[in-house]
This record gives sequence, C-alpha cells and structure tokens, in this order.
Amino acid sequence: MQSPVIDARALYKCYTLGNAQIPILRGIDLTVQKGEIVALMGPSGSGKSTLLGILGGLDLPTSGKILIDGIDITRLPESKLAEIRGRKIGFVFQAYNLVSTLTAIENVMLPSYFVKGKKKDPEELLEIVGLSHRRNNKPTEMSGGEQQRVAIARALINNPKILFGDEPTGNLDSKTELKILNLFQRLREDFDSTIFLVTHSDEVAKIADRIIYIRDGRLEREKNVGKLKN
Ligand code: ADP
Ligand code: MG
Repeated sequence: MQSPVIDARALYKCYTLGNAQIPILRGIDLTVQKGEIVALMGPSGSGKSTLLGILGGLDLPTSGKILIDGIDITRLPESKLAEIRGRKIGFVFQAYNLVSTLTAIENVMLPSYFVKGKKKDPEELLEIVGLSHRRNNKPTEMSGGEQQRVAIARALINNPKILFGDEPTGNLDSKTELKILNLFQRLREDFDSTIFLVTHSDEVAKIADRIIYIRDGRLEREKNVGKLKN
C-alpha cells in the first residue's frame, strides 16, 4: 500500500493565555491518501482552522508529528519548512487574497518565483479554471467566484501534493459554489490532487470521499462516503 500523503500522529496544540494553557487540539490522529478529497466539519471554534494550519505547515503543534509526503515537517528549520510548504502545499482561503495590483495571470504566476522545482503552466491553469479570457484583468474587475478560481489556479502553480482549503466557498453564492466544487473534482480527476477542505457546507461535503468531524479539538467520528476509486 502507498504511504499516505498526510500522516499526523498525536497532535496537540495549546495557546498560552496569561498563565493558563488553553488546549485547542487534543490528540489528533489522521491519515490522508493520495487522491482523496477530505472534508473537515465541526462547530465554530472547534479547531478546524488551527488543524488545517498545522497540517499545512503554517503553524507548529505543541506536540505530535506530521509527515507530509513522508517528510516530518515538525522537525525542520523554518527555511526548510518554507521550502517544503511552497513546493508541496497549496492553500485557498475564504478571502481570495489576490494581489490587487496584479492581473489574473500575474497572480497565478506569483508563487512560482519563490519556489524551485516543477511548475505547472499558468496559462493552462487559467484555462482549467475557465478564466483564460480574464488573464489580463485585475481582481477588482472580477466577481468573487472568478477571484476564487484565480486563487485556486495560483495554489496549484507549484504542482503541490496537497491542496488545503479553509472554507473556500464560504463567501460564494450556491451556484458559484457548485462551479468551484466541480473544479475540485476535476483537479482530482486530471491531476490526482489530494484535497483537504474545511467547510460548513453540505454541498462541499457531497464531493468528499470522507467527512471528518471535529469537536472541542478531538476527532469525533468519520463518515466514509466511499467514492474513492482505487
Ligand atoms: P474553527 O476554525 O473551527 O472555527 P479555530 O481553529 O480558528 O476554530 O479556533 C479554535 C479555538 O482556538 C478558538 O477558541 C479560538 O479562539 C482559539 N484560537 C485560535 N487561534 C488562536 C491564537 N492564535 N491564540 C489563542 N487562541 C486561539
Ligand atoms: Mg476556521
């Protein structure tokens, strides 16, 4: 069997508040296989964004370890971690976070300047997200859904192993949300992308192979929807 793309063991995260240690993640074990679409759901404040940030190497756990594509990212110097993150991980957030002075194509290309290694063709990515005709437009000239599609293309430019989304359709109307979800499904089909999405939306959960529920920093239960092809 292939080794998992994400292998997280015994993750704990505490925040210090004055003299108190506030536990946020309380013993999370999780594996994700290549090509899986996983949805992480749970109440507000349950630790979803904290977990996503830690799995994606944006933040460190208080204890525990995370193997991304076989590399323990909890034991790396910051420069090495930044390199691994840039090469192996793409992020999409609820806010699109595009650079307002750059065009669509320039936004897509931006992360490629900071990272060595194999790149995807930015024109092809814009075509995949259906925005070739917008290549020279700036974010203010695009709708929310279009901006999020640019952000997804940008997240893919460095050919990442995993695409993380933190409520990526949270700002979009339901019709636009479906378009973005179709896009995630296509990415999995075309590139065998591994996609990990934090969501409140039942629509998002519908495209997932597996839904993981978190409550008070612990994984509660899991629903295997079983759509994953082998
Ligand atoms: P979710 O994404 O599920 O809504 P979060 O992971 O953002 O939840 O937050 C989980 C808990 O951790 C919340 O109670 C939040 O207030 C707390 N928290 C998040 N980030 C910090 C931080 N940097 N310092 C202290 N507490 C934090
Ligand atoms: Mg959150």
